[in-house]
Amino acid sequence: MKTITPFQAMLKQLDTAAGEARLDPAIHAALRQPMRTLIASIPIKTCSGELQVFTAYRCQYNNALGPTKGGIRYNPNVDLDEVEALAGWMTWKCAALGLPYGGAKGGVQCDPKALGAREVESISRGYVRAMAEWIGPDEDIPAPDMNTNEQTMAWMMDEYSKIEGKLVPGVVTGKPVSLQGSHGRKSATGRGGMFTTLKACAAFRMKPSGSTVAVQGFGNVGSFAAQLLHDKRCKVVAVSDSRGGAYNPKGLDPYKVAEHKEKTGSVLGFKGAKDITNKDLLELKCDVLVPAALENQITRENAGNVRARMVVELANGPTTPDADRVLHEKGIPVVPDILANAGGVTVSYFEWLQNRVGEYWGEDEVNCRLKQKMENAFDAVLRVSKQREIPMRTAAYYIALKRIEEAMLMRGS
Ligand code: NAD
Repeated sequence: MKTITPFQAMLKQLDTAAGEARLDPAIHAALRQPMRTLIASIPIKTCSGELQVFTAYRCQYNNALGPTKGGIRYNPNVDLDEVEALAGWMTWKCAALGLPYGGAKGGVQCDPKALGAREVESISRGYVRAMAEWIGPDEDIPAPDMNTNEQTMAWMMDEYSKIEGKLVPGVVTGKPVSLQGSHGRKSATGRGGMFTTLKACAAFRMKPSGSTVAVQGFGNVGSFAAQLLHDKRCKVVAVSDSRGGAYNPKGLDPYKVAEHKEKTGSVLGFKGAKDITNKDLLELKCDVLVPAALENQITRENAGNVRARMVVELANGPTTPDADRVLHEKGIPVVPDILANAGGVTVSYFEWLQNRVGEYWGEDEVNCRLKQKMENAFDAVLRVSKQREIPMRTAAYYIALKRIEEAMLMRGS
């Protein structure tokens, strides 16, 4: 069966919300395509001395509200469609949260697990050289995403600063704290997801304590979310990575799973847990299902088998529009990605602010401000969802599109 691409899924969501918001037709048409996408080739010398060329993308989707903002992912399957979809989602996310940013996303077609650290460094520096003209603290600010991290951001900031002839910390966010990064950035997406899950539990009359949670994807986002929900007495019954999952109906200790993954490279084989597939995980009976890996995981094919009481999307685009409809019909609320996983870009915004002012906040202050932003955004989305009797995803888009429309009309562009 033909599957929908991430960009097609993003456009469907946009079209649904544009109809609901009675968006100006010209603005709607403009938002159906990215402002610009840059494609570059990055040649590097490998450890064995050969030349290898990698394809890199940067899509700047819309900048009506401010400089564009979004992560860079390293993945062998990254392509134009995916990067443009992710850049669109970043645009709606920043607008839904009320951040002064437009949306962007980047990617390099490479498998960092098959490369040495020097090669990954060369790709990261090459990416910045290829894109230097188009990025900057007031133009477009990259951040980490799948398979990139604070080390990647440190290399990128260093390369950009060399090109500019001065230190420019605000060109990327998600930097190490030792390089003017922000406290709390590494855990921010997972922590924002935890705040959102607790709000959603209250909204949908579920007690967080003892609620069973299944998390697909045990990387940066999924592992912090699992640990922080565990700290709030939720019962994390399953987690997974690209190789498969670990399941224990009595609950797993996500801190111990992280140690096991660190040692063995996977969550599989965790003591006391049963190995399951990613398919099994998505169909487990649980209270909260948290997809935190990739796009297109809950689809028309498996949505009918989802037995969770609610879905909190920490990955970008994990639920297709067809699956959304099935979940809606089954009465399973979906807390959408552009709301639930906005903790990362919110603390990225805090980092950028701190870089501009040159004043640095403690971790408690960062987490406290994050909590406030996430809870306010959740309340606003829930209010629109109830008032207009629409799913939370359409409500989040509604808020975002109204803000972008107003900015575009006022700017006259
Ligand atoms: P990561 O690379 O740290 O982790 C990804 C995890 O997903 C890994 O555990 C990997 O093994 C697993 N995975 C990969 N393919 C899988 C599959 N087919 N099935 C199950 N698991 C699979 O990446 P991350 O930063 O945690 O990002 C995860 C998701 O969250 C992505 O959709 C990303 O766009 C989104 N996101 C990340 C951030 C951030 O701040 N890092 C912010 C917002 C959204």
